[in-house]
Formats: sequence, structure tokens, C-alpha cells
Amino acid sequence: MDFAPDPRTEELRVELLAFMDEHVYPAEAQFERRDPAQPFSWERPKIMAELQMEARRRGLWNLFLPDHERGAGLTNLQYAPLAEITGRSPHVAPEALNCAAPDTGNMELLHLFATPEQREHWLEPLLDARIRSAFCMTEPDVASSDASNIALAMAPSPGGGFRLSGRKWWSTGALSIDCALLVVMGRSHPDAPPHKRHTITLVPRNAPGVVIRRGLSAFGYWDETHGGHAEIEFHDVEVGPEAVLGVPGHGFALAQARLGPGRIHHCMRLIGMAERAFDLMCERVTRRVAFGRPLAEQGVVHEVIADSRVKIEQLRLQVLRCAWLIDTLGAKAAASEISAIKISAPETAQWVIDKAIHMHGAGGMTADSPLAMLWAQARGLRFADGPEEVHRMSLARRELRRFQVH
Ligand SMILES: Cc1cc2nc3c(=O)[nH]c(=O)nc-3n(C[C@H](O)[C@H](O)[C@H](O)COP(=O)(O)OP(=O)(O)OC[C@H]3O[C@@H](n4cnc5c(N)ncnc54)[C@H](O)[C@@H]3O)c2cc1C
Repeated sequence: MDFAPDPRTEELRVELLAFMDEHVYPAEAQFERRDPAQPFSWERPKIMAELQMEARRRGLWNLFLPDHERGAGLTNLQYAPLAEITGRSPHVAPEALNCAAPDTGNMELLHLFATPEQREHWLEPLLDARIRSAFCMTEPDVASSDASNIALAMAPSPGGGFRLSGRKWWSTGALSIDCALLVVMGRSHPDAPPHKRHTITLVPRNAPGVVIRRGLSAFGYWDETHGGHAEIEFHDVEVGPEAVLGVPGHGFALAQARLGPGRIHHCMRLIGMAERAFDLMCERVTRRVAFGRPLAEQGVVHEVIADSRVKIEQLRLQVLRCAWLIDTLGAKAAASEISAIKISAPETAQWVIDKAIHMHGAGGMTADSPLAMLWAQARGLRFADGPEEVHRMSLARRELRRFQVH
């Protein structure tokens, strides 16, 4: 077993580390929360275009896409250490590399299932970062951790299209002025078995009947750089057959396919978030003196630092093995390992970030350092792509299957 990165990954890793130091960290201040008294703008800061140009110039573009022609052609195992580095600045770096959710998941979905026309219309501009997109599954009125509950009505219309009526929320990215595409899951075949009831359609955000009702804040953060989180109403929105992604009635399977790699990308980035918090914590405890000696010399602090390091290393090995399994056996065969990291990654990152906040004293809760933002992001990732209970349920069921006697 070789733990060293291969030459291509190492080359990209060195380039990315330099890009982070020279461009991303210095730009972070421009992405900080705006004054709440100022009117909201969902435009991305101008510097994002410059960061993207520089990332492209350095060959750090679309690294998430395993396809050689359209993406960087990296395996998940190669991408993992790179995504980890971008997680150190989760509100800037992933988008600078065109590797940010939810666009990446949508691009993967289009790459796998779109028709040539759909690819040209939606995938090419997304790969080029000319537009952004949102994935609209979760609804305020039903428990959306069970995707078979999704209820937005997709009534068949003459000519093979659908008419959409209903409400979505937590549609990340939909508030960005660059968002042109809504990937919408709705109930098209209400009488079919639960996993054959849904269809996914590609809806232009400016389609008549689409109403962006409001932005949702998460612990007071509006996540502007991710394009916010929108509540959206669909009032008899008409789409033609060319808007249907894949086969009508197969939307549930498509949504599952979309979440596979997306989930592991979040987990990779969470390691970087934990590492950033860890560094900030170590810097702080060496500088701060209490009761006559630096905090770094207190036994309790040693315990926190050591436990954080153990947890991060365990998580990294777990994520890398999962990435390797997906590469070698496929996402379906790695389902248990994907569930396992989806449980452990946000929990571990949140634990480490929380300790780092604590070591900063009350100042750790302010926006003076990235810690509060990192904590809020990690907390949100315990819901995004399904809450941990659902992953525990699937993991436990799979484990128990081996012991079933009937
Ligand atoms: C930052 C962020 C970004 C998001 N982005 C998107 C997006 O882009 N697109 C999108 O469609 N959605 C998005 N979501 C929504 C997210 O996917 C849902 O919140 C999640 O799937 C849970 O659905 P729900 O909120 O309806 O919770 P519910 O389904 O109502 O569940 C509530 C709680 O019930 C418990 N629970 C559920 N099932 C079980 C079980 N089997 N056993 C035990 N307990 C259980 C869990 O504790 C769960 O948290 C985002 C969420 C966040 C926080």
C-alpha cells in the first residue's frame, strides 16, 4: 500500500497550494459577510472572475470531473487531496476552480444522462462557468430526507412535456444572478411504486411561473458566494419534452446517482475545513498566556490538540479508502463506505472546529476569524445530501443483511 500521491496529483497539489497562498487567502476578505443594513446583492464579487481566470491558467479547472475531454480526468483518489485543500476556504476556493456544489453535482448528472442538445445548452456553459445552477429537491411541506416523499406536481402536458406546480426550498445557488438552470425533481407518476414516481426536468430559472420567494439564512449566514439558499414557487411552469433529463419516472435513481460523488466531495472538503481550524487553534494556543504560561503548555490543551489530530487522520484515511473503492468497484459497491463518511466527516469537522472556537475564547464566535463560518458550514453539511440518521439507517441495514437468516 502506497500512501504517496502519484506524480500528477502531486504536481496539481503543489500548484493548488501556491494558488491558495497567492490568490485565495488574500481574496477572502472580499467574500466576508456584507453589512446586513446594506441591500442584498447576489452578485459574486468581481474578484471571482479573476480567480477563475488564474485557476484556469494554472490548469486547476474542473478537477472534479473524471472525464478526460471535458474535465481534468482525475480519479476520486487523485481528486481527494485537492478537494481537501479547497475545503480550507470553502466559500472561495471551490468556485474559483469551478468545483463548487451544487454545480458539480448538476454537471455530473448532465454529463451522465443529458442528450447531446441538453449538454450543449446547459453543460458546456456550466463547465465554462458562464452560468450557474441549482438542484431543487427539498420541499418545505414534506420530509425530504425520504426522497420518495417529494411532492411537487409534474402533470404530463400534451406534446410530452410537463406542467410544474409546487414549492421548493434550500435550493442552493438559485439566488445568484448567474444562475440560469434549475434541476427540478417532481412527482410525475403518482400511482407508480415509490421509486418510479419522479422525474427530473431542466427548467430555465427565468421560465414564466418560476418565483424566487426569498433567501434562507443559515445561522445568520446567507452563503452569498454559494448563490444563497432559495425558497422557490412553481406556478404552472410549462416545460417541453426536451427538458426531461433521462427517462420520465426514473428521477429517483438519477437523484441518487447525483448524490454519490457529490457526497464524497463534501467529505473531502470537510477534512480541509478541519485542518484550517486545527492550524488556527495551534497558532492561538501558542500565543495566548493564561495563569502564567501559554495555553499550549496546559495538559487539557494537549489532549484537545492530540484528539483533533487523531480524528482528522482517521477521517482522511476513511475518505481516501472510500474514494479508492468508488474508483475500483463503483459508487454502488461503495455505498456503505459513502454512508460511513457522510456520517463521520461533518461530525469530525464540527468537533474539531468547535474545539478551535473554544480555544479562541469568546473571540472564536465572532467573524474576526473564519471559525464561525466554518462551523456553520460543517453543521449545514450534516443535513445537505441527507441527514446522518438516514445514512446510519442505510449503513446498518446493509451490515445486518449479512446476518439475516430468512
Ligand atoms: C446548507 C444546506 C444546503 C442544502 N442544499 C440543498 C440543495 O441544493 N438542494 C436541495 O434539494 N436540498 C438542499 N438542502 C436540504 C437538505 O438536503 C435537506 O434538509 C435534507 O435532505 C433533510 O430534509 P428535511 O430538511 O426535509 O428534513 P426531514 O426529512 O424533515 O427530517 C428532519 C429530521 O428527521 C430525522 N430523520 C429523518 N429520517 C430519519 C430516519 N430514517 N431515522 C431517524 N431520524 C430521521 C433527522 O434528524 C432529520 O434531520 C440543503 C440543506 C442545507 C442545510
